[in-house]
Amino acid sequence: MTEPIQSGGKAVPDGKTMSRQQRWAMNNPLAVWAHAAVRSALKRGLITRGPCEVCGEDQTDAHHDDYSRPLVVRWLCRRHHKAEHAKPIEGGVKPTK
Ligand SMILES: [Zn+2]
Ligand SMILES: [Zn+2]
Repeated sequence: MTEPIQSGGKAVPDGKTMSRQQRWAMNNPLAVWAHAAVRSALKRGLITRGPCEVCGEDQTDAHHDDYSRPLVVRWLCRRHHKAEHAKPIEGGVKPTK
């Protein structure tokens, strides 16, 4: 007698199939909006990409201190951007209501 194998292997399109980034985007709509605003502002020449403010690297990402002000950004290379997010926010932790 063989028991039927009943677990595993099913492709269910739910939260598990979402990439980490997609899940992050779902949880951070304001951040997604801010990033989109930066992209479109760059395209229109409203803001210009700068070098990393820490090390001067050219390949930079826009970092937001405040996502509700999408065009107020700091330019950071990947390494320093990561470092910026890794450190706890000093002083002004805003209550998120
Ligand atoms: Zn840097
Ligand atoms: Zn950032």
